[in-house]
Amino acid sequence: MNRTIEEILADIQKAQAPSNVVESVIKDIESPVNVVSQGPTILIVKKNIILDATMLTGLMSCGRYTDLRFNLSLIPQGGKSNSLECGSLVHKILEVFYGSLINRHKRSDAIANAMTAGEMYIKGCQFCTDFVPSDEIPKPICNHPPNEYPGMRNTPPDNQDKPKRIGWRHVLATVEEYFEFYKSDFWVPLEVEVVKRKIIFEDDEIRIMWKAKLDWTGDTNDGIFPMDHKTMSQNRPTLDLNNQFMGQCIVMDTRRVFINKVGFQTSLKPEEKFLRPPMSYTADRLLEFVSETVPYWAYQLIQYNETGYWPVNHTNCEGKYGNCMYADVCKADRHMREEELKLNFVVGQKWDIDNLEKD
Ligand code: SF4
Ligand SMILES: [Zn+2]
Repeated sequence: MNRTIEEILADIQKAQAPSNVVESVIKDIESPVNVVSQGPTILIVKKNIILDATMLTGLMSCGRYTDLRFNLSLIPQGGKSNSLECGSLVHKILEVFYGSLINRHKRSDAIANAMTAGEMYIKGCQFCTDFVPSDEIPKPICNHPPNEYPGMRNTPPDNQDKPKRIGWRHVLATVEEYFEFYKSDFWVPLEVEVVKRKIIFEDDEIRIMWKAKLDWTGDTNDGIFPMDHKTMSQNRPTLDLNNQFMGQCIVMDTRRVFINKVGFQTSLKPEEKFLRPPMSYTADRLLEFVSETVPYWAYQLIQYNETGYWPVNHTNCEGKYGNCMYADVCKADRHMREEELKLNFVVGQKWDIDNLEKD
């Protein structure tokens, strides 16, 4: 069960108390290990660590961020930002569109299903939002997973300048343009929104499982690859130094992932804002990722968790999409931080890749 914010703050107060971070992520297990071939089998305790790209990126960015976001599950009271909401709306529409095509719906029906899902995402579904299961009603009558359609809280109907926000009507118009632009698309979608897992590293002390959620996988005629939708308001080349893209290649056993870019710019032509650049990796770069980069950070995570000390990293307080969501907490004096957290954050669902935020 989720803890109340008071319980969490009580934990924070006990500064020396070991934090329970990643209790679901780090698990001690007893693994039989063959010491020498044909030799004796002994039991040693290994830590099982489950990581995904969002956690790894958080961990690389800032220890305190990792503690607040993934350990204590503190999220802003106001909900997702406007750009995250618009990104999630596009993901939902494309998920239903490609899912309908996989289920052999006609393209026009797939588009209709997708736009209906988009409208539901904007309005919100009264049955599954904040649904709490009970003995009488174990799941929402709409059959959606809880909070699948929460409604958009920070997105106005039309684009706004002050503050700059994208309107949902513009998002819907953009997706309609996308469908028109790709009307002769020959890529065949095979799966949508699947979570894949793979053991990527093991030594005497730890074993790491990587989890990746793939927006869709498809056959491009040149092979089967993972694809990742990325919405954007500004046209920037995509850099392949990205945990998410590398992780997707690892779980799919490929060396290429395609980025399905969907731009919200009003000034660009469709061929300039709907792009599908490939991110390609050499075998060595992926090997470095699984055998050095991820294990190094897994050991860091264990250390933070065991010492209960989550170091700050001020180089990540200011990001390209705005300040870190905990900036006001860190700006406060130490004795005021609890108050800041209490006033502006709530305890959200425990981090799980199935609830991955979309950008
Ligand atoms: S504001 Fe800076 S120091 Fe504080 S959690 Fe965010 S990144 Fe870390
Ligand atoms: Zn519902």
